[in-house]
Amino acid sequence: MFLIKYLLLIVLFIQLGGFAAPKKPFFTDGETVIYAKNGSKRVAQEFAKLEQKNPCLRKIMIDMAHFIKKEFKKDMTVVMFYRTQKEQDYIYRNSKRYKRRKFISPHQIWHAADIRSFTFKRNEIDKIVDYVNKKYDSSNHYTKTAMYHKVYNGVMHFHIQFIKSKSVTSTNSCSSMP
Ligand SMILES: [Zn+2]
Repeated sequence: MFLIKYLLLIVLFIQLGGFAAPKKPFFTDGETVIYAKNGSKRVAQEFAKLEQKNPCLRKIMIDMAHFIKKEFKKDMTVVMFYRTQKEQDYIYRNSKRYKRRKFISPHQIWHAADIRSFTFKRNEIDKIVDYVNKKYDSSNHYTKTAMYHKVYNGVMHFHIQFIKSKSVTSTNSCSSMP
């Protein structure tokens, strides 16, 4: 009886999350780690694909995670890389502007990443956006690399967009980036 009581307690403990399995990052290099929202396998797989699709964006992700760790002792969580046409249509399903004329998101062509922002204070958010833009805008095809915004009816987040400007080099290499 005594033993059963303890067993029940242990079961309850586990049920309630007891020693909850630690979140597993999809990237780590010893210095820092990057997490996916809800441990999403898709985000992890897409990060691996970035190596081919957009290596500079991948590099920026790692750099940003390092900066966040160094400055604020915090971790970075990726919400989204790639977006399908179906997902784009769904996000803008109530937008009159989108209905009039569909537009393509940089996410649909592997040019963008969304990063969770609610774990940061406002001044930290500003510092992160500033850091990324000062470093990468000059080699970016897009005018702005980092933004803090929300998509139609969505939640606030960092939106990072980058594809190397043709004027910088015609190759896919990121070695000339800062
Ligand atoms: Zn975005």
